[in-house]
Amino acid sequence: MSNAKYVYLFHEGKAEMKSLLGGKGANLAEMTHIGLPVPPGFIITTEACIDFYNADRQFPQGLEEQVLEKVKILEETTGKKFGDPERPLLVSVRSGAVISMPGMMDTVLNLGLNDETVEGLAASTNNPRFAYDCYRRFLQMFGDVVLGIDHHYFEVVLESQKVDKNVYFDHQLTAEDWQQIIAKYKRIIEKETGKQFPQQPIEQLFLAINAVFNSWNTDRAVVYRRIHRIPDDLGTAVNVQAMVFGNMGDDCGTGVAFTRNPSTGEKSLYGEYLTNAQGEDVVAGIRTPQPISKLAEEMPDVYRQFKETCELLEKHYRNMQDIEFTIERGKLWMLQTRNGKRTVQSAIKIAVDMVEEGLITKEEAITRVEPAQLDHLLHRRIDPDAKLDVLAKGLPASPGSAVGAVVFDSDLAEKIAQEGKKVLLVRLETTPDDIHGIVAAQGVLTSRGGMTSHAAVVARGMGKPCVCGCEAIKIDYASKSFRVGDKVVKEGDVISIDGSTGQVIMGEVPMIDPEISPEFQKLLQWADDIRRLDVRANADNPEDARKAREFGAQGIGLTRTEHMFMAPDRIPLVQKMILADDIEGRKQALDQLLPMQQNDFYGILKAMDGLPVCIRLLDPPLHEFLPSAEELAVEITRLKLSGENAEELLEKEDLLRQVRTLSEFNPMLGHRGCRLGITYPEVYEMQARAIFQATAQLVSEGYTVIPEVEIPLVIEEKELAYLRQVVVETADRVKEETGIDFHYTVGTMIEMPRAALLADEIANQADFFSFGTNDLTQTTLGFSRDDAEGKFMHHYLERKILTDNPFIVLDRKGVGKLMQITVEQGRKVKPDLLIGICGEHGGEPSSVEFCHIIGLDYVSCSPYRVPIARLAAAQAAVNNRD
Ligand code: ADP
Ligand code: MG
Ligand code: MG
Repeated sequence: MSNAKYVYLFHEGKAEMKSLLGGKGANLAEMTHIGLPVPPGFIITTEACIDFYNADRQFPQGLEEQVLEKVKILEETTGKKFGDPERPLLVSVRSGAVISMPGMMDTVLNLGLNDETVEGLAASTNNPRFAYDCYRRFLQMFGDVVLGIDHHYFEVVLESQKVDKNVYFDHQLTAEDWQQIIAKYKRIIEKETGKQFPQQPIEQLFLAINAVFNSWNTDRAVVYRRIHRIPDDLGTAVNVQAMVFGNMGDDCGTGVAFTRNPSTGEKSLYGEYLTNAQGEDVVAGIRTPQPISKLAEEMPDVYRQFKETCELLEKHYRNMQDIEFTIERGKLWMLQTRNGKRTVQSAIKIAVDMVEEGLITKEEAITRVEPAQLDHLLHRRIDPDAKLDVLAKGLPASPGSAVGAVVFDSDLAEKIAQEGKKVLLVRLETTPDDIHGIVAAQGVLTSRGGMTSHAAVVARGMGKPCVCGCEAIKIDYASKSFRVGDKVVKEGDVISIDGSTGQVIMGEVPMIDPEISPEFQKLLQWADDIRRLDVRANADNPEDARKAREFGAQGIGLTRTEHMFMAPDRIPLVQKMILADDIEGRKQALDQLLPMQQNDFYGILKAMDGLPVCIRLLDPPLHEFLPSAEELAVEITRLKLSGENAEELLEKEDLLRQVRTLSEFNPMLGHRGCRLGITYPEVYEMQARAIFQATAQLVSEGYTVIPEVEIPLVIEEKELAYLRQVVVETADRVKEETGIDFHYTVGTMIEMPRAALLADEIANQADFFSFGTNDLTQTTLGFSRDDAEGKFMHHYLERKILTDNPFIVLDRKGVGKLMQITVEQGRKVKPDLLIGICGEHGGEPSSVEFCHIIGLDYVSCSPYRVPIARLAAAQAAVNNRD
């Protein structure tokens, strides 16, 4: 351990060393390397942090010596010295984890100042006001971040000074004001810690490094890592960097900028800056910052240089950058760069534009967009023609629309959301302590802060709608309400926000269906060229089928016929069928259902002209079509008491008896699926007939129809052989009756472990397989989904016994193994056996990747997820090239 190199100068590192140097440090090193103006400094590695924890929060051996060595080098490079009253070296101490965690650990600026050096700084810059401003900032930051004193104490002092002096902004305070504040700050520190403020710069430095290491394990950091699934053992690096000053006067400033618009992706610099300011002033909302374009007027030379630097960084990283900079007396300094967080709209546009600019390949573009984020684009947004009761307008900080009940507190937001209600988090501004509230909320509304404020950045990262800086709403936490003019909105009232326009709207607004932008279309086309998997959709009616086709589905992977049985006009017939005493009675009811089913199939098959449609025969247990025993019992009691309708009473009593007979101990494993087909072949026969009559009709009308008849829940070749015969005979009969020839296939769902294990036998009777991974997951794990998710799944996830909910992310290890066996065994018998997957996993990116890896032919998912699956399938192809 003691031999480890714990400290790197900026020019000893590079971007690839991110896991050792942290994201911020690696990029500072990289910028230094390519010759950009970066204040010099050094990086303490993440390894040092890990060793710090291994050594029970003690600095690992050798660390202090190495730091002192680098401080010396820093002193030589800058010609300044720690504690030198004439030319004091001042540094910033910045945390920097491998994966950027916004707001996790706060930076300390101006470290190295003390009662003596502050005078030196005042004299050497000939600017006492500036020097005292730096010192008071340092005392506050150090007091808060390193010594753990509530920042509120410091703020109260500052506020009362402003009130006394009758000024509004910090920069209106004078050198003398700052001196008075400094004295008070020092007293606060003494009182709160019982010790004098540490005057030795080296001591300050080690205290700060220690604090950065410790902050790796603060509650909020731990929560953030849990939400974002970041491992706990990565550790954070510490960056120590010579200070540059944006607060020396009006030819100084500090700012943040994105090389492209993080909201829309538009190719133009996007950012804000403040003159005569330092560090976080821009994002803290102290004064309203200026748009970056204004810099072109105020400091044209700096602006030109900055613009060129941005272009250079984009080319270098081949990605949109999020940049922090400071201007000290007309000189530009780069303080940070990283790949910028962006909305999904922006990600798509930037990826497509960068391909067209020749910066990246199509394959790379495909991997630049997170498929799961597309969800957000494929969802509904506010109807542009709706009449809106617009309350106020803020900054459009993260696009999309959200509706929910107003909540002012993050804990409460989380609580109410857990009860299944939609909430909107409304705050003056958000801090890292609000993360769980933001996660729980549909969207965020703040009354303060700009486009780069905490709320805005976090919401964009999560793809949540956000309106910020909406100054027109006057929030009063105490009375749990906000007011706009004379309107008062109370906690619990429903409002809507539109993060694309900044509008805050009273009530729930009407939404419309999504549409796909030309860039999105293009990206999906590239994805189609790259992917090997076909993408189908699950659709139970012609509208969904049409929607699926619009979204690029190449067929229907699952049509559930039971949904058609549930329609209100059909349920009595279905019940009649179920309750029939004999086969004759059942056939009568089925005859009445036949034309209705035929009509359903006609619509879907027609909408999918030229594409395959997989239709599953009846699957759920019959009692699902009957009223519940409790309802009936209540009804019967009522009838008995009233004594009026004796006939109805008898009928209901009869029905209740039937319901009780049909009730099952474990319906999931009960009389359902092909087991119904085995006991009531006439039901499957009717459904097959409906499919084939619709097919014959469409063929005669000139359509190309490709029905695939699917038998659910099969466990044994003989089951399928029998039911296949029922279907084939029906087809033959329909062909004979109509004189029309048509093509069809018969296959099965693979959703029981036994079917997977005996796939080679079952394949003899099947033209295709389709994995029903919901039931396959239930039966492989022995988890009933509703019970698992309602009762114990979260324990499994919290204890990390399971990494993901297997009903959402396919369990590759267990269920996946059965799938692999199925594919191998099935294709051994029939090398060209068509194999797909239907159900929710078919639209989940990691599951799609697995389907690609084991060689399925297609995935099928809900229509709205088709674009997600197209992109995920392409990413699977790119990431699994052999
Ligand atoms: P965060 O990760 O929260 O952005 P940073 O370490 O980047 O924290 O720093 C906070 C602020 O301080 C930023 O505005 C940054 O540009 C500024 N800053 C950091 N180091 C220096 C420095 N050496 N000189 C001047 N400003 C600095
Ligand atoms: Mg910060
Ligand atoms: Mg920063």
